[in-house]
Amino acid sequence: MMRFNAHYAELKESYLFRRIAEKTDAFRAQNPGARLLRLGIGDVSLPLCPAVIEALHAAADDQSKKETFRGYMPECGAPFLRRAIRDHYAARGIALGEDEVFVSSGASDELGDILDLFDRSCAALVIEPAYPAYVDANIMAGRTILRLSANEENGFLPAPPKDGNCAADLVYLCSPNNPTGAVFSKSQLKEWVDWANERGAVILFDAAYEAFITDPALPHSIFEIEGARTCSVEICSLSKTAGFTGTRLGYTVILKALERGGMNLNAMWVRNRTTKTNGVSYIIQKAGAAVFTPAGQRQIEDNLSVYRHNAQILTAVLDELGVCYYGGKNAPYVWMKCPRGMGSWEFFDKLLKEAQIIATPGAGFGESGEGFIRFSMFGSPDDTREAAQRLRGMV
Ligand code: PLP
Repeated sequence: MMRFNAHYAELKESYLFRRIAEKTDAFRAQNPGARLLRLGIGDVSLPLCPAVIEALHAAADDQSKKETFRGYMPECGAPFLRRAIRDHYAARGIALGEDEVFVSSGASDELGDILDLFDRSCAALVIEPAYPAYVDANIMAGRTILRLSANEENGFLPAPPKDGNCAADLVYLCSPNNPTGAVFSKSQLKEWVDWANERGAVILFDAAYEAFITDPALPHSIFEIEGARTCSVEICSLSKTAGFTGTRLGYTVILKALERGGMNLNAMWVRNRTTKTNGVSYIIQKAGAAVFTPAGQRQIEDNLSVYRHNAQILTAVLDELGVCYYGGKNAPYVWMKCPRGMGSWEFFDKLLKEAQIIATPGAGFGESGEGFIRFSMFGSPDDTREAAQRLRGMV
């Protein structure tokens, strides 16, 4: 008898945001007049910048005329956008070929799809707490998952396993991190790069939040690290950088130097994309290219600075109250330790009932997240300011 992929039965129910929604709905039903402050979900709240909107309109007009109409786009990305991204890296001192940049519909798609390139036997190392897709995509692919705990002892930035027996072939690094807001320094990333090169492992570097880095000493890209070119894939997104969560555009960098056993990962990804996609739409790629123009780069800063300011508003109050937290600098998440040893769902309930604040319980990102709560900085400054005030007396 034909069988479905049995690994789906191994997935834990994806209940985190559903459970949050259920609890919130139940509270609203009982307290219809309450003003809820939503600092839970990591979706942006500010609109696309003018340069992007203009590009969307112009590209829609292109599609209305025979002379400028575009049909299928190249599977790996439009040359104009691949070049713009290459130039963006070049401006940071990272030399890439245009054909080492792949345009995608977003980081989530890539994080799952890229697993096609690695043998089933490759084990994946996930640093937890983690963005849940890392674990779930590997379970679906039937892959062994190894876990490394990020915790207070290692500042939520663990070093590579010292244990020579660790069987990891792939490792996910997310910096700035969701959910902890922790950011790897260059020397910490160098340790991971050396570790990966020594053992022939591949780093999947999730740079979805790189735009939040303001400290010039911190790396935005794994390719700022010497040796990364032979062991890393970088997956990035315009979702948080430029408010594209609903517009959908990302990019992945796979260098031609990344080879194992005589096989070339860049060539394999070209083969994969030309089989499994027909590219991202012309209109959306035009919008993406506008982000990399000087005007686009200036304008996206307006929204980013609102989100950064939200983090300042919240962390200033937490500092004043002497509360233990991580992140909030160079990252859009504040990862707060629950007071008085409370569990993360217990503190979630207390915040909802007593302060009408919605946050995300750390336990939803893996066991190592227990005892913490995540505040997202993507909401409105008014809500963030009000939430910071309501936290007084609760922590
Ligand atoms: N990676 C991380 C760490 C994220 O937090 C998110 C979204 O929240 C993504 C990837 C997905 O980004 P995209 O919207 O490009 O699919």
